[in-house]
Amino acid sequence: CGIIGYTGGRPAVPLIIEGLRRLEYRGYDSAGTAYVQDGELQVVRAEGKLIELDTKLAALDTSRARAGIGHTRWATHGVPVERNAHPHIDQDGTIALVHNGIIENYQELKDELTAAGHTFRTETDTEVIAHLIGAVLNACIVEGVPEEDCMIQALSRALARAEGAYALAVINLAEPDVIYGARHSSPLVMGVSDEENFLASDIPAFLPYTRNVVYLNDGELVRLTKNSWTVYDCATAKKIERTPQRIEWDIQA
Ligand code: GLU
Repeated sequence: CGIIGYTGGRPAVPLIIEGLRRLEYRGYDSAGTAYVQDGELQVVRAEGKLIELDTKLAALDTSRARAGIGHTRWATHGVPVERNAHPHIDQDGTIALVHNGIIENYQELKDELTAAGHTFRTETDTEVIAHLIGAVLNACIVEGVPEEDCMIQALSRALARAEGAYALAVINLAEPDVIYGARHSSPLVMGVSDEENFLASDIPAFLPYTRNVVYLNDGELVRLTKNSWTVYDCATAKKIERTPQRIEWDIQA
């Protein structure tokens, strides 16, 4: 339902929670965040309101994470409990992603991955996409695709198989300060600046920090670091030139 991603010089987790709070108006049944800290992928999720997630995070030291993703879920596939809350991880536990929308052919993909040895922990359509991207990423590494191109290649190839609507934000343990995104029939927008970058399902999530935005189009992928952002065509994995536009309006208090 609500998506936020952050990469920059500040502690990521408080910014992610704040961003989710500004998307609360959309309604949701559970929430979660994923970030890499000290070489480990951390996923924290909670059923219910953001305060439940906040309480869990307050017991943890998240201060060294500089990038991460967050989600408020409105369940479509799988009951609204913590287990089904996003982010979801791949088979190896090295990729985490959040998703808005519905993957129509998830059962077919799930059957295929199950036959290939994958075990699923949730009833969501989203988890299938996490596993698919992880599987294709492993194949890209085996094929010798250069490391810096692997995730874009993997997203391009994996999403070629996904039918339905999605906005995704993805984080990979191998690249702790990088956020990836993809969109097809579900809104996703970047908020960009010189020293930190945001990805969100809606502008209010990051409006206090930047007014320079790039609306992603259907069939686009994006890679964000703290001081760069690159848009790709999902089908071909080729770069696309985009120019940010400036938002002049403010959120009503
Ligand atoms: N279909 C996904 C789920 O049920 C995403 C729902 C959403 O857009 O929040 O988990």
